[in-house]
Amino acid sequence: MSTIVDLRSDTVTRPTAAMRDAMFNAPLGDDVFGDDPSVNALQERIAALLGKEAALFMPTGTQSNLAALMSHCQRGDEYLVGQMAHTYRWEGGGAAVLGSIQPQPIAHQADGSLALADIEAAIKPDDAHFAITRLLCLENTFGGQPLAMAYLRDATALARRRGLATHLDGARVFNAAVVQAEANGSDPYAEARAIADLFDSVSVCFSKGLGAPVGSALVGSKALIARAKRVRKMAGGGMRQAGLLAAAASHALDHHVVRLRDDHANARRLADGLAGIDGLTFTPPASNILFVDLAPALVHARTAAKWGGEHDSLVDQLRSRGVLCTGLYKLRFVTHLDVDAAGVDRAIAEIRRAVGASH
Ligand SMILES: *Cc1c(COP(=O)(O)O)cnc(C)c1O
Repeated sequence: MSTIVDLRSDTVTRPTAAMRDAMFNAPLGDDVFGDDPSVNALQERIAALLGKEAALFMPTGTQSNLAALMSHCQRGDEYLVGQMAHTYRWEGGGAAVLGSIQPQPIAHQADGSLALADIEAAIKPDDAHFAITRLLCLENTFGGQPLAMAYLRDATALARRRGLATHLDGARVFNAAVVQAEANGSDPYAEARAIADLFDSVSVCFSKGLGAPVGSALVGSKALIARAKRVRKMAGGGMRQAGLLAAAASHALDHHVVRLRDDHANARRLADGLAGIDGLTFTPPASNILFVDLAPALVHARTAAKWGGEHDSLVDQLRSRGVLCTGLYKLRFVTHLDVDAAGVDRAIAEIRRAVGASH
């Protein structure tokens, strides 16, 4: 039994036994020649599930987003994106570096959305001074925050009205779908389809909450996916007997979507357990991610350690006690398939101890 409670990201360290069986038994071919049956089955499945013509299995979400951006945009085009969005801030600037696509970042509202007026104002006139605004890219969930369907409808309608294409970074789109399904008493797969219907392309990660070791998919029109396939090749993502990995993703789609609600419940359990501790503030998690702000004294302890001070940082203290989290901007705790209620309770106890909470 592992004593580590790993809340750094929603990735599992070891696929479930059932998933490993599915991988082990997967029929394989050579996907570079398009004849790996397990890859083809996954691509057909995820395209149908999200209501698109075609899909492409990708090694990572980063490559999937890059291929999408480079398929929608040409060199010198511009895409509108959130200031803290993954494609803009956490993917090494790939769209600009590799695609010569200029990002136009837009500040987020408190709910994670980009204000419609800000989107409208960022669209450049047709004038030689400006890059050509080509694409609106949204992210759902955004840092664990599901964007409202009404907002997604309005933002994508605005984009279409202004002639822009739309891409969704849906690394966690099934988390958003599960939250919507709980609120509406509906089916999570139908909710995912309803979200995807609003966008020209969607990138979805199997290696996040869905618990596969590797893999993402890009879905969209046949023409878009054909372009994306060339970008994937250029980026070195054309894999051979990739059915071994695709089988894990198919297993995840069958077995790990509905259970995301357990991750969401565990994130709420963590928040409940940290409520009322001096120096910690947060808003209750809407899905599987809890961000915690630290009071200045605790932040000082954290940064002092980063710069070689004598205090252990909170993140390091927790790590030494077997609780892993990240703390770049805020403390971040992510629940997933490998973390159960007992793990959450252990994390709560260690966090209380680390911040010196007496109750
Ligand atoms: C993790 C993540 C990605 C990228 O996925 P990788 O497989 O790690 O490259 C993209 N977007 C969001 C929102 C993510 O959380």
